[in-house]
Amino acid sequence: MTVEVGDKKMKKRKRCGWMEGKVALITGAASGIGEAAVRLFAEHGAFVVAADVHDELGHQVAASVGTDQVCYHHCDVRDEKQVEETVRYTLEKYGKLDVLFSNAGIMGPLTGILELDLTGFGNTMATNVCGVAATIKHAARAMVDKNIRGSIICTTSVASSLGGTAPHAYTTSKHALVGLVRTACSELGAYGIRVNCISPFGVATPLSCTAYNLRPDEVEANSCALANLKGIVLKAKHIAEAALFLASDESAYISGHNLAVDGGFTVVNHSSSSAT
Ligand code: NAD
Repeated sequence: MTVEVGDKKMKKRKRCGWMEGKVALITGAASGIGEAAVRLFAEHGAFVVAADVHDELGHQVAASVGTDQVCYHHCDVRDEKQVEETVRYTLEKYGKLDVLFSNAGIMGPLTGILELDLTGFGNTMATNVCGVAATIKHAARAMVDKNIRGSIICTTSVASSLGGTAPHAYTTSKHALVGLVRTACSELGAYGIRVNCISPFGVATPLSCTAYNLRPDEVEANSCALANLKGIVLKAKHIAEAALFLASDESAYISGHNLAVDGGFTVVNHSSSSAT
């Protein structure tokens, strides 16, 4: 089909199908970044299993996109059996698994190191690290079994490379994820499977709003005030777009990478003084 643009005839692009025919499993899919990824992946032609513990929201997300393309499935990533069952469900439903977006995460306790709550610390590690490891293990098995040159993406944070931007357990967990991504990349490359992570700067989602007891506009105002890149407000959709790129064949030779979606925050000097 052609459309008139000015005096030029241009071919109108159908939906851009970066994910046409691909099957994706997304954890933490009921809200925030995961929800944005569900919508974007589906828009680009993927079949998506949206996994979360928040069943009501998860079903709403699937229904709003269309249950022919998106299915909600309950999965607490802290329980390996549920993770294994969710991967099995994906294979039964769609026959294969091309993409894992292991995105579920929690902020955990905000306490200082002198009052560290080790139960909360353990729960953050169980969710943000062990949960992601379980998803990589079972998704990678499914990809290897079916000879799929898949893509695995995890959500880390600017706290994966900087201290002092987030609570201790959270920062520890996100640093650990970078190691997990690199070591998984080193083994899975032999099967043609790519493993990457994305490090977002502060986005207004239930995670950030609840942890700091702020409204979305207040989280965004804080992020904008701290940001290096001015004139743009970071949204969950920007992170989903990075995940879409890493999930697609457009990033066919990128593996072991930690893609910062932080407007340069982690690579610039924020103090006014210069050392040179
Ligand atoms: P969110 O709270 O909107 O989404 C997180 C989702 O994970 C929720 O739907 C929640 O129900 C789910 N979840 C929590 N524990 C789970 C479990 N045990 N099993 C399965 N699902 C579980 O928050 P978000 O900001 O979209 O967070 C998504 C990811 O992005 C997290 O890994 C987070 O650490 C990371 N991140 C967020 C920000 C930010 O500023 N919002 C910045 C950097 C990184």
